[in-house]
Amino acid sequence: MFKIGAHMSTSRGFDKVPSDTVKIGGNTFQIFPHSPRMWRASLPTETQSESFKSEMVKHSLDFQSCMVHSGYLINLASPNEEVWEKSVELLSIEMKITASLGLKYLNFHPGSHLGEGVQYGIDKILRGIEIVLLENQDNEVELLLENVAAKGNHIGSRFSELATIIGKSVQPERIGITYDTCHGFDSGYDIRTSDGISRLIDEIDKSVGYGKLKMIHLNDSKYPLGAGKDRHEILGKGYIGSDEGFMEFVSNGRIREKPWLLETPGNDAEHSEEIKYIVELMNKSGGSFPS
Ligand SMILES: [Zn+2]
Ligand SMILES: [Zn+2]
Repeated sequence: MFKIGAHMSTSRGFDKVPSDTVKIGGNTFQIFPHSPRMWRASLPTETQSESFKSEMVKHSLDFQSCMVHSGYLINLASPNEEVWEKSVELLSIEMKITASLGLKYLNFHPGSHLGEGVQYGIDKILRGIEIVLLENQDNEVELLLENVAAKGNHIGSRFSELATIIGKSVQPERIGITYDTCHGFDSGYDIRTSDGISRLIDEIDKSVGYGKLKMIHLNDSKYPLGAGKDRHEILGKGYIGSDEGFMEFVSNGRIREKPWLLETPGNDAEHSEEIKYIVELMNKSGGSFPS
């Protein structure tokens, strides 16, 4: 079944997210587990998680197709011990929050080595993941590494880096990836042609394995191919664009297997329009959206 949705606000409570999702025409969503620019996070109460889960069921949403996005302060590659320890601690709590909501995937950015080098950063990420997974043996949440824009000292703009992290981790079966189309475009992956999309799928398959790709962040880019700026744009309004851009992407059968999540500027009203626009593109390309 085809899945599309957006990053949703939790300001009115986790339990409002399923109905808000259906209102914008979505059947999947992404949420933050806590205020994303703070180190503080707390587990939902029993009542809050039960209420959220019953809303999921009421609106026929699939727990395994929805996702939690980690807070922005987390940097598992950080050379600063204090930041690294706080990052590990917070990611571990986020995993417990994800589990208490009955959701399966927690997405995070691999991190920045801040000049210490890729190998240094990957080693720290691996140590962090090991602790976080050890502390979460009583749940089945999986971590998703998100590809990031090729800029600065960020790790994870290439699939080879993500593959190394997964391959060397203590529990590779609990780690997958998310592909962000804006970050990918920023890193030189051109999805405006069917050749470009084939190359992308091929590279994912040969590095991490296509089965490891669990989610797609569907974003246009405010900057040209390879710019490394990481500025999301409304679908069809950026450099990926509509007819030669997202049309090719959404008409690809393998891409359609994965849930698509918008992280574009704007709120529910704008996202609702974008979902309609994507469905139009799909229909134009010969696909169909189950209502
Ligand atoms: Zn992200
Ligand atoms: Zn993203």
